[in-house]
This record gives sequence, structure tokens and C-alpha cells, in this order.
Amino acid sequence: MTKPADSPTTEFDLSPPDPAERKALEADLSTEEAEVLLRHGTEAPFCGGLLDNKEDGVYCCRLCGLPLFRAHTKFESGTGWPSFFAPMNEAHVVAVRDVSYGMVRIETRCARCDSHQGHVFPDGPRPTGLRYCINSVSLEFVGDGQPLRDPLGRGDNAHMGAR
Ligand SMILES: [Zn+2]
Repeated sequence: MTKPADSPTTEFDLSPPDPAERKALEADLSTEEAEVLLRHGTEAPFCGGLLDNKEDGVYCCRLCGLPLFRAHTKFESGTGWPSFFAPMNEAHVVAVRDVSYGMVRIETRCARCDSHQGHVFPDGPRPTGLRYCINSVSLEFVGDGQPLRDPLGRGDNAHMGAR
């Protein structure tokens, strides 16, 4: 079966962690990280460690290390959570309809490990008009020039080029 021409492609290996790998990844999480990533919690606003980070680099999934957002798409939304107007690669972030708490929202998850990241809203800035509202604890920042974490040993670092 061939993919539609407009479906996003990625050089990263998005096959999910096997049960043993997942167990090892989850064992590395703090209580707060596990609450958000695995149980769809939300961190308190204006508390996250990455809210005011303005360094150049890439924001990766805290659980599996997949890069999700680039620093230049981060913007100050005033909401108290790190906000981005576009994912690094649309193949890396999946959207899931979320009707919890009496609201209809679009939840975003890591495309590789399915961990909860946050929500996406249609009130962002140009050029996309989208606001990816993401929990700091769901992310791990990797500054320019530093190697990406590769907890699954996929060798994906090479796909980021000379960073
Ligand atoms: Zn992940």
C-alpha cells in the first residue's frame, strides 16, 4: 500500500518500544513525569522548567527521546506552558480527540511511544495558526551542538545532521 503524497515522512524510526524497552523507559521517570506522560496529567502553569527557555535547540519526548519541536517555533503564549506553533515533523506528533473534563480538545502524543504531551489549539500565531501547548515535564531540551538522547538505541541522532 502506498502512502498519500501529503502524508509526512520522517527518517526517524517510529516503531513503538517493545514491552521491555517501555518498562525501562518508564522506570527512568520521576513521579511527576509519569503522572503527565503516562496518566495524562497536566503540570501546574508557570511552573515548568522549560517555560522560559530561549536557547537554540530541539525539544524531545521525555520518555523515548524522539525530537518533537524546534526552538525557533516556541513562542510566548502567556498560558504558563511551553507553546509551539508547529512540530518539528508532523509525523512525530499525533493528534487525538480528547473529550475529558467536559471539553472537546485535541490531545497531542509522541508518535513513537504514545506518551501524553499536551494539547493543540487553533489560536496560535502565524504561519500555522496553531498553538501546541505542551507540558515541560513531557519534554527534554537538547541544546544545539549537544547529542540527542537515544534511550532506545535507534541511532536516530545521525538524522539530525551536524548539530
Ligand atoms: Zn516518545
